[in-house]
Amino acid sequence: MKKVILGLIALTLFACVDSVETHRTNYKDKNAPIEDRIEDLISQMTLDEKIKQMNQWTYGKNANPNNIGDEMRKVSPEIGSLLYRSTNPEYRNQIQKKAMEDSRLGIPIIFGFDAIHGYRTVFPIPLGQACSWNRNLVKESCRISAKESWLSGLDWTFSPMLDVARDARWGRVSEGYGEDSYANAQFAIAAVQGYQGNDLADKYTIAACLKHYIGYSLSEGGRDYHYSDISRQTLWETFMPPFEAGIEAGAATVMSGFNDISGTPASANHYTLTEVLKEKWGHDGFVVSDWGSVRNLVEQGVAKDLKVATEKAFMAGIEMDMVDNTYVDYLPELVEEGKVPMASIDEAVRRILRVKMKLGLFENPYVDVVPENERYLLPEYLETAENLAAESMVLLKNENETLPINSNYKSLAIIGPMVKDSIHIMGFWEGKGRPEDVETIYEGLRKEFNGKATLNYALGCDFDGDDKSGFKEALNAANSSDAIIVFLGEKRNWSGENGSRSTIALPKIQEDLVAELQKTGKPIILMLSSGRPLELIRLNEMADAIVEIWQPGTAAGSSVAGILSGRHNPSGKLSITFPQTTGQIPIYYNMRESARPKLGHYQDIPRDPLYWFGHGLSYTNYDYSDVTLSQTKIKRDKKLIAEIEVTNSGNVDGKETVLWFIKDPFATISRPMKELQFFDKKLIKSGETETYRFEIDPMRDLSYVDSYGEKHLESGDYYVIVNDQQIKFEIID
Ligand code: BGC
Repeated sequence: MKKVILGLIALTLFACVDSVETHRTNYKDKNAPIEDRIEDLISQMTLDEKIKQMNQWTYGKNANPNNIGDEMRKVSPEIGSLLYRSTNPEYRNQIQKKAMEDSRLGIPIIFGFDAIHGYRTVFPIPLGQACSWNRNLVKESCRISAKESWLSGLDWTFSPMLDVARDARWGRVSEGYGEDSYANAQFAIAAVQGYQGNDLADKYTIAACLKHYIGYSLSEGGRDYHYSDISRQTLWETFMPPFEAGIEAGAATVMSGFNDISGTPASANHYTLTEVLKEKWGHDGFVVSDWGSVRNLVEQGVAKDLKVATEKAFMAGIEMDMVDNTYVDYLPELVEEGKVPMASIDEAVRRILRVKMKLGLFENPYVDVVPENERYLLPEYLETAENLAAESMVLLKNENETLPINSNYKSLAIIGPMVKDSIHIMGFWEGKGRPEDVETIYEGLRKEFNGKATLNYALGCDFDGDDKSGFKEALNAANSSDAIIVFLGEKRNWSGENGSRSTIALPKIQEDLVAELQKTGKPIILMLSSGRPLELIRLNEMADAIVEIWQPGTAAGSSVAGILSGRHNPSGKLSITFPQTTGQIPIYYNMRESARPKLGHYQDIPRDPLYWFGHGLSYTNYDYSDVTLSQTKIKRDKKLIAEIEVTNSGNVDGKETVLWFIKDPFATISRPMKELQFFDKKLIKSGETETYRFEIDPMRDLSYVDSYGEKHLESGDYYVIVNDQQIKFEIID
């Protein structure tokens, strides 16, 4: 009897196991839940296959058609990811076919690239985009960038960059959204939504990558790649919010930074990569290292060799190694030695597969192949590029309404190294933008002022050097014109990666050119193209009007010409402060108050910067009403409405951004002098009024974050600040 019962139990158990086996999810079943598919796949993978998933290889360094075949043969069909430099969707599909058909399990490759401010249609640099304060346009530019990228074979962009940057000597200041955390957070959301759309599995959407996590912009003295000393308070208050917002918006991936955060490099930082990103925020995608940042742990002195570097980076929470091969080289032995648990390998692979599943790559591994003229630079893309570029431009100064160019100016001198440039005007990380796609400023002006004003062009001088031989021609052009427009600026690699500079002034030759032209006594309009705020203490005095045009990209000509003619009314406001001099750095609007507010400033320059964050003029006038509050005392769990009416009292329509700041004058920890908590941009027609409204949620908008990332809301007085209005209200228990 016993035997019969045992036999029955054995049979039942066998039947159960068997039924589990037969009903097991197949990872190829697109209707099964993603998590089940991932588990099925992982259960079939060897260690070698898993580790290869965690490796990013690079393809297309040599995209010469003769070498493509050779390059393609080098790509293993089991590779997890490719940094894909080619623009050819067919090569991508061929490589993907290898992965799908020649690898044992047919796991698709994820193809990534840096489409930072556009792919082939190049939009203004992100620092400029932020000055537009136009979330919709930023989102739209990312949607276009995603579509052009996807049609070129990409699934993934290493963007947006969310490094809050307050040191303009750091070249990468151009790649982010400026000096404010809230602004970076808002544009992070816009960018993620633009790239990823509603569903990553849809055509034309690509995965976003929030970078460089975290604190990279605080590199000492603005020297790229250098040490960054960041207290936990600063980390939480300044650097975390944009990343947290991007994660909440659904960003699929994150890139770890090169920088050393107070002794624990960002690429070996368990606290930021695992405890915060994954455990606190619940990010379920993966982290890719920055180019060489695992290897760099050796240089940074926290790993004695590449094997230790691999262990540290992996155990800190980096799932994919960008192009270094360290994971492939060292993870097998680290697993064998028990230094890296198999469960951690599985978890890393799970995260990578999850992103691939969400992208729909298992079902739709290939991209559409359409002719280039249907892929790139479509008229509506160029229109967005022009609008975003125009809205990013900031009218810094406009004495005596020098701008827009009026009909009294029958002839215009157009002078300077930026006029005919088509390379530097695209900025760093121009994606696959080509100089021949760019409408130069010269071309734009010729179109805009055709039949309205004569244009007298002269180069004047080069970007740098000391050759003044062109000054004479420039003076002649100026002398025979009614107004002088000088187009100065930076070369593209003066900012961007490894583009740090000890001074943010333009080279002396450019300033000397303006000084020379000033002798004519004619109105001088300065148009500045740069990847950072500039030191304008001398130029500011010489010019009647100044526009910061940033690096506007493909639609440079039409946007710049439109701003000059008044077809575009300037609406940009600075997303970063322009100091008086380089030595005034760091200076940013939300500093803490000093112990002796009236003292301690540099004695040789004015106390304030030249142009504060938020500064920007227009061709019309806006009259602001008094701010009204729905209550002056509210309980901590209630909401407060602040409103202001803005009237366009000038003659032209315009778009106005209201920046809403909050000030907490007294708290347990000191707080910044004011903090941006909301912004809104609206079109106001000439003679009309618009109401702007900020709904204050006390916990979200008034609390402070402590050094553990916890928010605290204290009762007491607060202020809401718009321009120079400061209205008090109270939070009560
Ligand atoms: C940069 C990243 C970039 C990566 C891949 C690195 O050098 O720091 O921002 O995404 O290269 O090109």
